[in-house]
Amino acid sequence: MYLEMIRSKVKKDIVIFLHGTPLRLYRVIPLILVFVILLSYNLHAEEKVLFLDSPTDSAIEKQKVELTCRFYGLDIDHIVVEKNKLSKPLFASLIQGKPGAIIITAEALSNLDKKDISSLFINEMNIKTNILIMGLTDSIGNNNLNSWSFASIEGADKLSDNEEDTFFRISDDETDVARELAGQEFPFKDERMHYFLLAKGSRAQTIMGIRRNGQFFPNFIRLTLAKNEIFFLMNMSSHEFVGKVELQQYSDRFIELAPLLMFLRYSLKDYAWHSIRDYANFTIDDSWLIEPYGFLSYSGLLTEMDKADFHTTIAFIPWNFNRSKPQVVSLFQKAPERFSISIHGNDHDHREFYLYKKLPNGVWPEEALNKQEEKIKQAIARMEQFSKKESIPYDKVMIFPHTIAPEMTLDLLKKYDYWATVNTNNIPLGEDTHQDIEFFMRAVTLQFSNFPSVRRFPAYSLLSFDIARELFLDNPLLLYGHHDYFKNGIKEFNKIATMIKQIQPKVKWHSLGSVAKHLYLERLREEGFYEIFSFSNNILLENVHQKGATFYIRKNELSWPPIKRLLVDNKSYPFEWQGNEILIKVFLLPGESVGIQIEHKNDLDLRTVSVAKNSLRIRALRMLSDFRDLIIARTSIGQAFINMHYKNILVIILSMFIIILFSFSIIAVLLFKKNNNES
Ligand SMILES: [Zn+2]
Repeated sequence: MYLEMIRSKVKKDIVIFLHGTPLRLYRVIPLILVFVILLSYNLHAEEKVLFLDSPTDSAIEKQKVELTCRFYGLDIDHIVVEKNKLSKPLFASLIQGKPGAIIITAEALSNLDKKDISSLFINEMNIKTNILIMGLTDSIGNNNLNSWSFASIEGADKLSDNEEDTFFRISDDETDVARELAGQEFPFKDERMHYFLLAKGSRAQTIMGIRRNGQFFPNFIRLTLAKNEIFFLMNMSSHEFVGKVELQQYSDRFIELAPLLMFLRYSLKDYAWHSIRDYANFTIDDSWLIEPYGFLSYSGLLTEMDKADFHTTIAFIPWNFNRSKPQVVSLFQKAPERFSISIHGNDHDHREFYLYKKLPNGVWPEEALNKQEEKIKQAIARMEQFSKKESIPYDKVMIFPHTIAPEMTLDLLKKYDYWATVNTNNIPLGEDTHQDIEFFMRAVTLQFSNFPSVRRFPAYSLLSFDIARELFLDNPLLLYGHHDYFKNGIKEFNKIATMIKQIQPKVKWHSLGSVAKHLYLERLREEGFYEIFSFSNNILLENVHQKGATFYIRKNELSWPPIKRLLVDNKSYPFEWQGNEILIKVFLLPGESVGIQIEHKNDLDLRTVSVAKNSLRIRALRMLSDFRDLIIARTSIGQAFINMHYKNILVIILSMFIIILFSFSIIAVLLFKKNNNES
């Protein structure tokens, strides 16, 4: 029965076009449909967005509304308003469906009878719904703006084109709408930027504006009228929102979508997809448990973590499983809330999870993939031994050495029940790095092998607005560095942790394992019922609400690898299939949580997997890396080499060879002299 219910709730957008046909006839059929759904499943309608545009609007406005509504999982009731077609009674009938928010383009608003507007917004709005008027430019006319804003806006103007640095600045004060974006500045280049001229004594609150040359020009404001709030947004689109972009372009263009995202999240609240809290993690790659590891002092870092309140995960190379020093091990045992371990490759051989080329006949070479499979199994076996020997838990989260593996390797991670993979690029090696802008709005994707692939950022390059954007979008904020990140002192990360806390005081610093277990989105469907979209096969579902609630959990699963069983709190639990998804339902009291795990069928038998370090080549490589990080890095000449050639192991080997040769020559000369003296 609950499957029927959830099925109806996961319905597609209801889009109603009125364009070019008798209005009333068009309304009748879809409205009946809507009401049937509402009655059968007793749904609240707050999750819908009523969107009114006009046939003369540019496609960009519609694209932006569709994109942002899709991001938040909101249904759109789309009405195209032709000249003088939208009368007051019809508008009143449209809002009978109690939309959670109303978005009207400036063009569509111009098609309304001007006299009707004030009574519509104030008198006819017998429901509490926020309204956004978007796509405004100076061509709308000062009179219109003045009357629509109840004399709070005097008019509009346009910035002159020049080369001066221009930023969109989000107000510090409107944190209920701006959330983590409050106080941030986003650089932007566009010649067509319009802004509002606010009237003297205007009641408008500025959410966002343009800062140039010490001056500030509002372009996104709100007004509170009776029960409702009306938001006014100037046109700020310079691009279309279809087509593929790269990560940097997403970062540059995010600000164009930010006002709509702020408006929707603020208006729809828990009905929009969201995470239950904001997570952050700092990962240090490569280090094994020896004090110090190059510039990393574990005890020093623990002191700083206690001061600045953050958590460090070591991306641990499984090859190092049996060489940890008790002094460092005890720190991990004593402070699990500060230190954790995830998996970093297996041998950290440069090519261990590298691209395997297709054979001339177009078939993937089984051999290359088989080798990777062995390494993925060996990594687990070694980490199990490490965990048993040192009594430190580890998380089944894979950080690939150097760069993310190709997609088929992600299949293997899924097969062996890893929880997620975290890398600088979440697009597997060999795949197109151009994706829809929506793809980049989530830090986690299931697009590749249906396995959670999460994006992380180098700690040294992250700017304040990047942090704010990621947290605002409810993405886990994952940062990383190597031991040399601390070359100027062990306090190096404290300033970033402090900046993150300023942007989101409630941020939780956790292990990558805990982040993986919270890779799910939640949305309210009706009082006491939440829908969960899970990205990981291992989640910790929490009821963070004041009342007991039923959770419908959806998890995308492909037919391969087959599911062995589903566990809820370590006990087998029934589930049902719906297309490519499995569905389960659980009830949780307030504050209660439950672990949900999906196990896949595989051939892993740890008793048969060797953990031996047989390869001389790998041993030499690891020893050279140790020499680089533990000895050379701490000399200034060595550091200069490493700064230049960190990634080029050949250059390092060569330079080390020269150093060793040089040292031997000195020793030989000294011995020769000594022998000569003695003789
Ligand atoms: Zn590494």
